[in-house]
Amino acid sequence: MSIRSIHQCECKACQVEDGNASRYHHQLNVLMSQLDERQRRWLAALEANRLGHGGTQRMHEVTGLDINTIRRGRRELADNLVDCPAERIRVVGGGRKPLEKK
Ligand SMILES: [Zn+2]
Repeated sequence: MSIRSIHQCECKACQVEDGNASRYHHQLNVLMSQLDERQRRWLAALEANRLGHGGTQRMHEVTGLDINTIRRGRRELADNLVDCPAERIRVVGGGRKPLEKK
């Protein structure tokens, strides 16, 4: 497992003030650094949705994730993540065979 660096948000709010916005952005990026790729884009998508207009661009600035990655996350979220099961799908017939030794 590789150690991921925490993205530093360089949005205007973070440069100008040391307030709630920058704390929030920092914590968001701390959280992101612990998530896997899919979870990162869903979190960014959720935040982008919350922000509304311009949210995707904003989350791109805050998290450093690619715009298209966040868009993809928003689509997946809009579809209730139906094509994105939380656990790996077992291939039918795959997995451990029942023990039948004689
Ligand atoms: Zn920021």
